[in-house]
Amino acid sequence: SEVATMMDVSTTKVISACMSLGIMVTMNQRLDAETLSIVADEFGYEVDFVTSDIEESIEEVIDAPEDLQTRAPIVTVMGHVDHGKTSLLDYIRKENVIAGESGGITQHIGAYGVQLENGQKMAFLDTPGHEAFTAMRARGAQVTDIAIIVIAADDDVMPQTKEAISHAQAAGVPIVFAINKVDKQTSNPDKIKEKLASMNLLVEDWGGKIQSHDISAKTGLGVKELLEKVLLEAEILELKANPDRMAAGTVVEAFLDKGRGYVSTILVQNGTLKIGDYVLAGRNSGKVKAMQDERGKNVKEAGPSTPVSILGLDGAPQAGDKFSVLEDEREAKDIAAKRAQLHREQSVRTQRHITLDEIGRRIALGDFKELNIILKGDVDGSVEALTDSFQKLSTEEIHVNIIHKAVGAITESDVLLASASDAIIIGFNVRPAGNARMLADKEEIDIRMYSIIYDAINDLKDAMEGMLSPVM
Ligand code: GDP
Repeated sequence: SEVATMMDVSTTKVISACMSLGIMVTMNQRLDAETLSIVADEFGYEVDFVTSDIEESIEEVIDAPEDLQTRAPIVTVMGHVDHGKTSLLDYIRKENVIAGESGGITQHIGAYGVQLENGQKMAFLDTPGHEAFTAMRARGAQVTDIAIIVIAADDDVMPQTKEAISHAQAAGVPIVFAINKVDKQTSNPDKIKEKLASMNLLVEDWGGKIQSHDISAKTGLGVKELLEKVLLEAEILELKANPDRMAAGTVVEAFLDKGRGYVSTILVQNGTLKIGDYVLAGRNSGKVKAMQDERGKNVKEAGPSTPVSILGLDGAPQAGDKFSVLEDEREAKDIAAKRAQLHREQSVRTQRHITLDEIGRRIALGDFKELNIILKGDVDGSVEALTDSFQKLSTEEIHVNIIHKAVGAITESDVLLASASDAIIIGFNVRPAGNARMLADKEEIDIRMYSIIYDAINDLKDAMEGMLSPVM
């Protein structure tokens, strides 16, 4: 389907071209280089391969089932401002000191690992909030296995709580609710659970499947039990990795330290990273000179689900960049250089995200099945009315999906969610706030603003029928 879009022909035609070559393919199948060249030739195109074969091979090493071992879950904490995300992360950081080790976690490296009394381990991303989570996802990195969503029991299910829920759901990441601040006289955990139930999010106590636990991030009450529930959720996910291979994972953060050079915190997701390994991280590369854990202790190796900060890269990769270890330095350098060039070319050439103008064409090509929309409005009534009307526009060919709706201005976080989920943003009587407009331009996200419900519905309808007149 990708190659069909590039050549501007229907997916069906490409599939039948393959069939005439004796190759049965589905829409989402990847074609090998030779087939690609032949198929393109059928339609009068010549293929220019710009990504190296090496790159393809490093990203698709598949482990044999017998080599896989259970790995610790990687957890992100999200929720509304002031509901206690930082307090929870701090409490866990302080209390879970590995037996026999003096001192807690002193370094802030963007992620940390903890070990529970029973020996089970887990890793936390130390940047609370869904912005960081979704920014990574927008770069194609799925690091989080489980999301803890903190809700203050003396408050309510707030806009950012709802956002966090939407972001976790859009990523397909299971949620465990932490109903926080139960030490407070004014707290009312049942009210929160009732509110969640009214949003179709049934927690266990309410006969549902979503785990939740009442906690106090301040006194530590219930935190241990909360973490046990996270581990239970992890068991269901059957998280596995192969420690006996070259490491691969994701960059969490990176910066330039005056004395030490580029310091990058990475999260190993598969394999084991060792000192002396040649690392390729996004558009950067280098040999691992030193590694430190979150306690500032030098380590020689880091296995699956372990965060470490490393020295030795020739630059600062971006959060969300993937990293992998290669056999030799030359290879790592070459690929990094090629990626940098490809990145420069692509940022000039391609439009990455869907726009309203393009929907009709893409539907006609038959490779576009779901239209994701983020809807922001000034009042609840109009948001609900538009949601209903938009959903009714769904047809057999295309499903209209409101992945997030809320009252309020269009925020940077909306843009990031749109970028991660390839969505368009529709604003009703609201505008982009702060840097949202700038970010939307950078991420090439289509934002449409309306003040008449009828106009919004008609534009979407026209777009889906491929009849939208271009904006002047
Ligand atoms: P964040 O914005 O979600 O990271 O929230 P913080 O962790 O910064 O917490 C906001 C405020 O709530 C701080 O003043 C905390 O001390 C307070 N707080 C957090 N958790 C609790 C709790 O369990 N009980 C009480 N009483 N206060 C808490």
